[in-house]
Amino acid sequence: LIEAKKIKKSFGRLEVLKGISLQVSEGQVVSIIGPSGSGKSTLLRCLTQLETADQGEITVCGEKMMWTESGRAVYANKNTLHNIILNVGLVFQNFNLFPHFSVLENLIDAPIRIRGISREEATQRARKLLRKMDLASKENSYPCELSGGQQQRVAIARALAMQPRILFFDEPTSALDPELTGEILKVIRELAQEHMTMVIVTHEMAFARDVADHVIFMADGVIIEEGTPQQVFENTQNARTQAFLSRFS
Ligand code: ATP
Ligand code: MG
Repeated sequence: LIEAKKIKKSFGRLEVLKGISLQVSEGQVVSIIGPSGSGKSTLLRCLTQLETADQGEITVCGEKMMWTESGRAVYANKNTLHNIILNVGLVFQNFNLFPHFSVLENLIDAPIRIRGISREEATQRARKLLRKMDLASKENSYPCELSGGQQQRVAIARALAMQPRILFFDEPTSALDPELTGEILKVIRELAQEHMTMVIVTHEMAFARDVADHVIFMADGVIIEEGTPQQVFENTQNARTQAFLSRFS
């Protein structure tokens, strides 16, 4: 579903992505790990149109999103970019819910406005998602009335309400107290079992190992090593990977 080739991105003189290539196929769960500042969020932002890449090639769901001509990035037309973004769901560390909308309104707003689904159908689907997230009793609550874990589950439900083909998570648990982290990991694990395609940036090593089919270790804007969780977490021969992982054990 995603194919990225040699993505480069600089902020001023700082080269943050130095030619990253990755592939995500349907149903796959890819986790991205690596030290702070290695470019993980920037990579996700480039893949989801929140940031423009300087060079490389990105294809999402079979549609070419950007490519390079004479060393410069060229992006697809607005229409294509819009179609691509409809396939993509995003969950951030800080939930980013609409504070003045109730939980239910948070879930139905975009499907009605952007997908053109009727209010009745959107509401029905939203209620189903809220039941799945164990939030059925909270549909009329406002985000500020919820715990961090509940807010994050609303954010996941909101992303799913748009029926994306791929979900991106950027450290979905890092703003949460440890006791609330588990409930989010459980939801993501369930989505993995339902074969939702996901790309997850996380500092939770045990979770990355557990849920992913494929693990990418990034440092200083390059992919140092990638492979199955077993290859990366247990059998790595790479000194960089070993040094990074040893901090967590
Ligand atoms: P963390 O694990 O701490 O979230 P990360 O791997 O997600 O780190 P990025 O957020 O991608 O790292 O940042 C990579 C580098 O790019 C950092 O040095 C950061 O300061 C820089 N950077 C990110 N966004 C911008 C920006 N908008 N303008 C300038 N520099 C930026
Ligand atoms: Mg980050």
